[in-house]
Order: sequence, then C-alpha cells, then structure tokens
Amino acid sequence: MNPRLKKGLSVFALVSIIGYTHGQEKEKKSMNTNPLLSEWTGPYEGVPAFDEMQVDLIKPAIRKGMELHLADIDKITANKDKPTFENTIIPMEKAGQELDRAFTYYGIYSSNVSSPEFREVQKELAPEISEFSSKISQNKELFKRIKTVYENSQKEPLPAAKQRVVDLIYEDFAMQGADLNEEDKKRYAAINKELSGLYTKFSNNVLADEENYVTYLEKDQLDGLPESYIKSAAQAAADRGKEGKYAVTNTRSSMDPFLTYSTERELREKVWNNYYSRGDNADEYDNNEIIKKILKLRDERVELLGYENYAQWRLQNRMAKNPENAMDLMMKVWPAALARVKEEVSDMQKLADAEGKDISIKPWDYRFYAEKVRKQKYDLDSEEVKQYLELGNLTQALFFTAGELFNFEFTPVEEGSVPVFHEDVKVWQVSDKDSGEIVGLWYLDPYARQGKRSGAWATTYRSYSELMGEKPVLSSNNSNFIEPAPGEPVLVSWDDATTFFHEFGHALHFLSADIEYPTLNSGVRDYTEFQSQLLERWLSTDKVINQFLRHHETNEVIPQDLVKKIQKASTFNQGFATTEFLASAIMDMKYHTTDPDKIEPDTFERETLKELNMPEEIVMRHRTPHFGHVFSGEGYATGYYGYLWADVLTSDAAEAFSDAPGGFYDKELARKLVKYLFAPRNAMDPAEAYKKFRGREAKIDALMRDRGFPVD
Ligand SMILES: [Zn+2]
Repeated sequence: MNPRLKKGLSVFALVSIIGYTHGQEKEKKSMNTNPLLSEWTGPYEGVPAFDEMQVDLIKPAIRKGMELHLADIDKITANKDKPTFENTIIPMEKAGQELDRAFTYYGIYSSNVSSPEFREVQKELAPEISEFSSKISQNKELFKRIKTVYENSQKEPLPAAKQRVVDLIYEDFAMQGADLNEEDKKRYAAINKELSGLYTKFSNNVLADEENYVTYLEKDQLDGLPESYIKSAAQAAADRGKEGKYAVTNTRSSMDPFLTYSTERELREKVWNNYYSRGDNADEYDNNEIIKKILKLRDERVELLGYENYAQWRLQNRMAKNPENAMDLMMKVWPAALARVKEEVSDMQKLADAEGKDISIKPWDYRFYAEKVRKQKYDLDSEEVKQYLELGNLTQALFFTAGELFNFEFTPVEEGSVPVFHEDVKVWQVSDKDSGEIVGLWYLDPYARQGKRSGAWATTYRSYSELMGEKPVLSSNNSNFIEPAPGEPVLVSWDDATTFFHEFGHALHFLSADIEYPTLNSGVRDYTEFQSQLLERWLSTDKVINQFLRHHETNEVIPQDLVKKIQKASTFNQGFATTEFLASAIMDMKYHTTDPDKIEPDTFERETLKELNMPEEIVMRHRTPHFGHVFSGEGYATGYYGYLWADVLTSDAAEAFSDAPGGFYDKELARKLVKYLFAPRNAMDPAEAYKKFRGREAKIDALMRDRGFPVD
C-alpha cells in the first residue's frame, strides 16, 4: 500500500484519489474558529486535535484551507522581485499549512472512520479539490517564476538539496503541461478530458462483464469446493434471485478458489473463459476500441510535451528512468520463469497421469493441479502457524527491530495525553535510545470496524523537514485485525504478520527522515515500496523468532521445521506467478513504446506473446481488455513493472544483510541502511542512494534465488 504523499506534489496525487463529482453550497460558519484549521497545540510541539473532529467542520475547513493556500500562492506571484529560490520555492514549500492540517482530518474520515454523512461531504468537495489543484498546476505566473529559478540553476547550480527541490518541482509542473503554449494547452486539456471519460468507460465495461457472467452450479457440481466457498456461493446465488443454486461470480476472489478446488473440469474451463474474456466479448462492453483510442490520445499528449512515447514521459522521474531499463530487467527474469513453468507443468502432468486422467494441462487446470502439488510437497497448516503469531508479541518484535536498526525506543504515551480519533488507537513516543531525543509519535489503529477501509496502510500526520522547524514526526499504522473478546489474544496469519512489518517499514521511513525541504519527502513509485518490503525480512530472523514468535499459551518458540516449511513454501508456484505477472508487465511496456497506429489490441496481444514464447498453459494475469491498472486510469500505466523493480532491490538488499558479518543485525550495514535508504527520502536520486548503500548497482541474482530460479 502506498503511503499518502504530503506537500507540494501531493496535490496532484490527491485529486486522483478523490475522483470527480459535482455540487456546491454556500458557507455559513465563521472560519476563524474552525478547530480543524487551527495550529496544533499540546505536547510534542503540537498534535492533531482528533478530539475536536466533527464531520460538519470538514467542508468549511477544506474550503477555507484551499482559499488560504491560493492566497499564499498569489503572494508569491505578486512579488515584483526577480524569482529566486528564496522568494519563490521557499514560500511554495511553506504554503497551505492550514490546508495540510485540514487534510489530516479529511484523511482520517475517509480511511478510518467514514460514514454516509462524510461520503456526501467527500462527493461535494471532490470537484472543488480537483479545480483547486488545477489552479496551482496551471498557474502561468507561478510556473514562469519556477521556470526562471530552474533555468538559472542550470547555469549556476544550487546546493544539492535546493537543486533537487527545484528539479522535482519544475519537472512535475512541466509533466502536467505547464510549459505549453496556449493552443497546445487547450489540446492538452481536451485530451485529458476525453481520456478521463474513456477510463471510466473502460472500468464500467469490465464491471458489466463481471456482473453479467455468473456461472450457476447445481448441488451435484460442488465437488472439491471448501465448505466456506459453498456457503458464500449459495449466498451469492440467493442475492441474485436464484435460491438453491450456487453462484461463481466473475471476479478474481470467486474465480481463483473455484479453479483451485473444483474437480469439474468443464466448469473450470467455462469459469476461466468468462474471467479472461472480460471486456473482450465483441459486444457493447468490448474494450478493444477504447484501448486503441486511449493509446492514441496518450501518445498525442506526450508528443505535445516533446517525448517520443508515453513510457519515456512516465518513467523519467522513476528509479528505472526509461523504458529500456525496465524492459531489460524483465527480460532477464523472463527465461528463468518460463523454464520454471516447464518444471511445474511437468510435475502437474505426472500427477494427472498418476490419477489415470487422459488430459494435458490447460490454463484452467493450472491452479487445480498446482494445489495438489503444493499439498504433496509443501503442506503447511496455517492454523498451527497462527498460534505463534500474537499481536502484542509482534508489536514488541517491531520495536525490537527498530531498536536494533534505527536505534529507536518506543514508549507508550500516557492514556489521554495525546488525542486519538477512536478508543482503539494507541500512541507510542519514539526517541533515540542513546540521546533520548524525541523523534516522533507512532499511532496504531489495529482493529477492523465499520467505516474503516480494508487492508493495511501507513500515513503521516506531520512529516519531518528542517524548513518546517524539525518538529517530531507523527506517523501512523492502520490494520484490520479482528478485535478479540476481552482477555482473548489476537492471532494473525503469517501473511498478515508480514504486512504488519511492511507497514511499519513505511512508518520507519517517515520517522527516520532527515531532509531540508518538504518536497524531498515525496515518494518515487518504483522505489517507495522497497524500504517497506525490505523490513518484512526481519520477521523471520532468528532474534525475532526466538524472542517473539512464541505460542500464545505455552510460550514455546515456533518450531524450526515449521519456519523451514514457511520459507520453502514461498518459492512454490513461482513459475506461474512470475510468468503471469511479467506477461502483463511486458505488454504494458510494449503498448506504450509502440506506434499506436500499428496497434490492434487483439492481434497485438496474441502476436507479441507468441514472440515472447508465452507458455500456452498460462495467460496474462490481467489480459489487455480488462487491464485496469493500465487503462482505467494512469496510476500504473507503464508502471506495472514497478512491483518487480522493488522486489529486485528488496532481495538484493536483504542478501547484503545475510552476507554481512553481523547478519541482519550488522551494525555497520544498519547504519548505511538508515543513512542512504531511509533518511534521505527523495533528497537523493534513488539509484545513487542504492549504490552508496550496496557499493554497486542492484543485481537480479538474489531475486532469482528467492523465487527458486536458477542463477547463471
Ligand atoms: Zn507498502
């Protein structure tokens, strides 16, 4: 999960999160007293007034906040002096503090304590926030000043941190078309408008095909399916007016277990076909023409900005930097994944043969036989594992890890001394173990509840920067563990424990920030998940296992062979997983580096995959006509490779620790970890920062080993 980006560039990100709808209303309330805009008071140089939150304060607070932010910008553009870093960039960095505070509460309402009442507010504010952000990104006078500062810095470079801020801000504005002439600007805006309509249509079509193709089963067609699946399938059928039948809906969460467990081969084929034909049924919901239009418009838009193709434009500020680098990485992993698929298919074929089945493995057989292989080779009882993963112990494991690597100490703050938005939320003070200096606070909101979004995520209420006064970082982690009955332990799965470490990694990334300007806190899409993924690795280190992975009743340490089983299971079916992922990621890049006039999606997909030797037993994880990451918006367009990119760094960095004299607790390597990979945030070019940590560029070998692939 991506942490929320704050400040500067965040305005653009925010709009895409919130979406667009319409509505308007006049303010009546007096603005001067709105507590959601007020300076934070209390301990730790001020903390959010969560105890004063009220839904009806949100709308006036955000509106007033936007007004004040725009007034700050007006002051910058009204300045008659020649544009400099001091009179343009610094005030931009400081602008909109009231709005930042209001958005902190807005974020809590949208993620942690939402309600129908708040969703109305959200709907009404969305178009206003979008308009507000355009007012900044399209502000000609403002951009003129930024451009002057940027151009001057090209002649006379600024100190490193300042230069990086200027570069990031300038690039961001330029990427949004701020530098275009009037005519091109109009065309740019028209293209964006048309694209946003096409994105909506694309996802609605996929949705329609998900709703329209339901497979109904009779009682005698349930063979192999788990009891829990049958129960929810019966409910899904009843919801659709088919009492007494069982519905396999056309979604991943329904399709995947059905293909894994059902013994009815013909039905598996049908369900598989429905799922992988979404958006591709040659009817009114077919997406092929829409994709062609999207690709052409994207291409035209980046041409206005002077780029050869969409991928080049998109990747310029990513760690990969250009499509060639991303493609190069994928093509290095691809052959090994294919080779592994051959082995997996052969294992499965043997099983099918032994069962006396006269079949050859087809795509709708893969999950089914893979599950049989898994049972045979790697059987792991997840209930047994859970007995050793108790939430309180895991929380102590996080603190231990942070203490060893970051020299942080976590102490619970006195109940009531720091306001919280719900009684479940607990707060810890984070300080330096040696000096005792306060680093910040860590808020944990652990349990699921109505109005809280699903999953787990990390955020900051206040980030660190020198410019904003070096105030303590206010970081938070949010999960959806099931709240236990009083006195009962919270036992979690291995996956959830891993996620708990992952999100804590984001929090440590915030807490350890050591940067001069707020913009340097921003994230780089193919890089920000790396730090948090890396932290996951400490869950299975000996020190954590021996101290914290203990049976909740007997206090016994989790048995070694159980840990080995967990680790071994992680390489299971990696041929399938890597191939289906890479096929999508490679196609994503091909679509955005090929002349769109030459693309007919249906044939393009088939022919490109054929050239790549795609195994016939596997299909793209997301086939083109329903590849929402790429065509229902721009968030992941030419960005799908990013998951693999971050995985390469994660494996490579983890191997640095396992090879170090002190292993995962090597002091010298931990120092470098904090200094180069965490503390600089975006103040250093990620590729350069990584090289400083590792002494060389990342290699893919460790990733190959982690996935059980051969290494040359
Ligand atoms: Zn994450």
